[in-house]
Amino acid sequence: MNLYKMKTLYFLAILSFWTSRNIFAQSRKIIDVHFHTRSAGDYGPVPPLNPITGKSPKAGTNEEIYNTNSALLKKYNVVKAICSGTLSRNTDFISKDPTRFISSLEFPDHQNNSLPDTTLFKKLFQERRFFIFGELGLQYEGKTLSEPAFEPYLSICERLGIPVAVHTGEAAPETPYNCCPDFTIDAGRPLHLESVLKKHPMLKLQMMHMGYPFLEETKAILNVYPQVYVDISAIDWLVPKEEFYNYLKSLMIAGFGKRIMYGSDQMIWSEAISLSIKTLENAPFLNEKQKEDIFYNNAVRFFGIK
Ligand SMILES: [Zn+2]
Repeated sequence: MNLYKMKTLYFLAILSFWTSRNIFAQSRKIIDVHFHTRSAGDYGPVPPLNPITGKSPKAGTNEEIYNTNSALLKKYNVVKAICSGTLSRNTDFISKDPTRFISSLEFPDHQNNSLPDTTLFKKLFQERRFFIFGELGLQYEGKTLSEPAFEPYLSICERLGIPVAVHTGEAAPETPYNCCPDFTIDAGRPLHLESVLKKHPMLKLQMMHMGYPFLEETKAILNVYPQVYVDISAIDWLVPKEEFYNYLKSLMIAGFGKRIMYGSDQMIWSEAISLSIKTLENAPFLNEKQKEDIFYNNAVRFFGIK
């Protein structure tokens, strides 16, 4: 074989390897367990710039927000997205694409809706208006899930098998000076969930943002309470890549690869979807099976999605 032929064969081999990888990656089924159904104006008349890209959100109306997100979810084969938002906005998304979107009751939400009383809460669940209770952004009010006010809701969720998704970890820089004067870092510590887990052993709990940056507390909770899963949302595109990789790798090494779920935390910057998927797809320490678990299989198991 002459040198030209060898070079051609080598080139073709490399090309087919990358093509097969890309086709595989694009056809990979994805579940986004942390997706927000925001409305135009939720972040004020002039929404903030994307902290990573520096760009302002493209979509300006509710219709544009839906269309932009829907196109990206389809592009990346995100077959299910758990919608955290107001029930009316969730219904809006679901009516347009009922097999892709799943409703999750957010509290507090961006429209300042109060939490429905327990009777209405049960009724709304039975009427299939929501399937998951969260995102519970209690930390933004300096509260934790262990406060007595949430106890009746947790009992209902445990009894009816409603997964509870709670914001853990931290928040954007200057949060207490902007939106949320009562916010504390302490309220986001994973260990605050322990009393809830002891009281409700059958409760399915999703620790959003994988407790970042409280790695040791997150490991301890995952180790002792097997009903807890984490999502990697926001951390997978908002913190420096190496920092995210180190944190995720540490949870993988600790043996929690079957309880980590992909999420984008798409809020008003739809590019969060592509940024977060690419970051996870390119994680150098994950094999294909581990990526499939995080992108899809673990969420199927946790939520009982078929
Ligand atoms: Zn959150």
